[in-house]
Amino acid sequence: MKKDIDTDGLTDCAQQHIERINSFTGNVLKRKYKLPCSCESAALKDLIYGYECSECGELYFYSFCWQEVVQDSETWHCNICGTCQDSGVWHCKSCNNCTYGLTLKCEHCGKKTPFMPE
Ligand SMILES: [Zn+2]
Ligand SMILES: [Zn+2]
Ligand SMILES: [Zn+2]
Ligand SMILES: [Zn+2]
Repeated sequence: MKKDIDTDGLTDCAQQHIERINSFTGNVLKRKYKLPCSCESAALKDLIYGYECSECGELYFYSFCWQEVVQDSETWHCNICGTCQDSGVWHCKSCNNCTYGLTLKCEHCGKKTPFMPE
C-alpha cells in the first residue's frame, strides 16, 4: 500500500524534494529524528511539514539539502537556488544568487541589501 504525500503545507525544502519523498517507504517516513533542542523526537512524516516541539515550542523541519533536522527560525530553503540557507543569507534578485549577510551588500554583484533601511 503506497499513498502519495499530501503536498499541502509541505515546507519549501520538502516540495522541491517531493519525488524523493514519494519514493520513501512508510518505514522511512516513520523514522524518528531527535530535535536539535533535545526535548523530544519527531517522525520524518511530521518534519516535512514543520514540527513544533511540544516542550519548548521551537519550530523545526527536515532539510533534505543538509540531511538533518533544522530550526525554522534559523534556516530557510531558497526555491530559486534549490538549497537550504542559513537565516543570515538572502537571495539577490539582481544577479539571482544567494548571498551572506543581511546587512551586507550582495557578494556577487554588489547590490545593496533590501534588509537595511537607508
Ligand atoms: Zn524543544
Ligand atoms: Zn532545502
Ligand atoms: Zn537563492
Ligand atoms: Zn547580487
